[in-house]
Amino acid sequence: MRKRFVIIGGDAAGMSAASQIRRLQPDAEILAFEKGSTLSYAQCGLPYLIGGVVPEARNLIARTPEEFRDKYRIEVFIRHEVTKILPEENAVIVKDLAEGSEKRFSYDTLLIATGGHAIFPQWEGRDLEGVFPLKDMDDALRIQGWVRKEHVSKVVIVGGGYIGLEMAEAFHHLKKEVAVLDLAPQVAGTFDPEMAHLAQQELEQNGIRVALNEEVVALRGEKGRVTGVETKTGFHPADLVLVAIGILPNSELAKNAGIELGVKGAIRVDDRLRTNRPNIYAAGDCAVHHHRVKEAEDYIPLGTTANKQGRIAGTNMGGGDAHFAGVVGSAIMKVLNVAMGRTGLSEREVKQLSVPYEVVSIRSRDHAGYYPNGEQLHLKLLYHKENRKLLGAQIVGKHGVDKRIDVIATALYAGLTIDQLQELDLSYAPPFNSVWDPVQQASTVAG
Ligand code: FAD
Repeated sequence: MRKRFVIIGGDAAGMSAASQIRRLQPDAEILAFEKGSTLSYAQCGLPYLIGGVVPEARNLIARTPEEFRDKYRIEVFIRHEVTKILPEENAVIVKDLAEGSEKRFSYDTLLIATGGHAIFPQWEGRDLEGVFPLKDMDDALRIQGWVRKEHVSKVVIVGGGYIGLEMAEAFHHLKKEVAVLDLAPQVAGTFDPEMAHLAQQELEQNGIRVALNEEVVALRGEKGRVTGVETKTGFHPADLVLVAIGILPNSELAKNAGIELGVKGAIRVDDRLRTNRPNIYAAGDCAVHHHRVKEAEDYIPLGTTANKQGRIAGTNMGGGDAHFAGVVGSAIMKVLNVAMGRTGLSEREVKQLSVPYEVVSIRSRDHAGYYPNGEQLHLKLLYHKENRKLLGAQIVGKHGVDKRIDVIATALYAGLTIDQLQELDLSYAPPFNSVWDPVQQASTVAG
């Protein structure tokens, strides 16, 4: 009998796994169920679609259901929601959302790749027209439709995390009057305050209002349409409100099937992406992510990890042997003209974990001083006080942030010390850096 693989969720993790299974199991039957109307697309590109940098939704689609069927013989069912997993019976119950009918499908091996959902509190007024979360293509298309309406000039973004800030840039490009509200005393909460402040400066210099320590009380409206956000301390007029205050894993389905959950309610998996139930794997934003620096289970939902975990789950499901090495907490975002990169632990995290640490902060230039148009680069490195192993880094600047943060991410992966950064043979020419790259300059300052 042909083996049957069932995948729940048709995006980064799910379709990476499906493709990998196909490579290893040319004759197997592979079924993927996706409750949305789009699959296999770059969610990370949604802010750029809304902002008009990416012209059309189809530019973000990697593969269509037809391509999966015709080229890879993977049967994809869009607008089909898996409503139940029956682990004792090796089966799932699937609802056809167009017809409303339900059907049972058996599996030999199952992957849960249900992703996450945007946190959208039960605030009064959350159902008003013009109020949106942003998690998937459907959300993006709704926002796009609304923002083009003639009356929409003021946008309030609740949440100054990476989605909130990328969207601030997108709405700014669309010539909207933009305000970012955050409950915290800073934006970009995964960065330390002094680094996050550089992002705030960039927003404010470009006319984007930032209001911190703002706790939302309700969303207000008239005639069913949003008119503003009421906070404990004031009122922020808005024709469009984007709620971007974080992501939580879609793990209900797994929980109801008796599958063990871990940190933040994400599905607990081992390094081969196996859950605690036989023949059931999980990957991506719905699963936990081992953190190499913390040496602990964590939840950092990102596209890079979802693709990797999906591929590894697919390898193991297809009979191979692959292990997820873990994350080091790397992320980068563009805030108008500035890039912000981080990897490893922030100073806040290091303190929370009671790790003895030292910190070195430098301001350097992104390339040789004598070569024109050099820009400032702010770099902060954290390392262990006793064994001098790197713990984390944050870099903010206009150019060259991506290169440096990835050098340090690689160093963290390899468990290098701050001193070993000086030994690295990094590429050099005046338009790109100095003979001692800023990463190495920071290491020298650490002494
Ligand atoms: P998802 O992409 O969420 O896919 C899960 C799929 O499962 C969904 O399509 C969902 O409809 C489906 N599903 C859920 N439940 C069921 C069910 N019961 N039955 C059937 N189908 C179901 N990451 C980065 O690394 N860099 C970035 O710059 C970046 N930018 C981002 C910008 C935005 C606006 C957003 C929203 C995310 C961004 N991310 C970024 C995160 C990245 O997109 C996600 O980490 C990645 O998409 C997760 O992939 P996934 O397959 O685990 O989950």
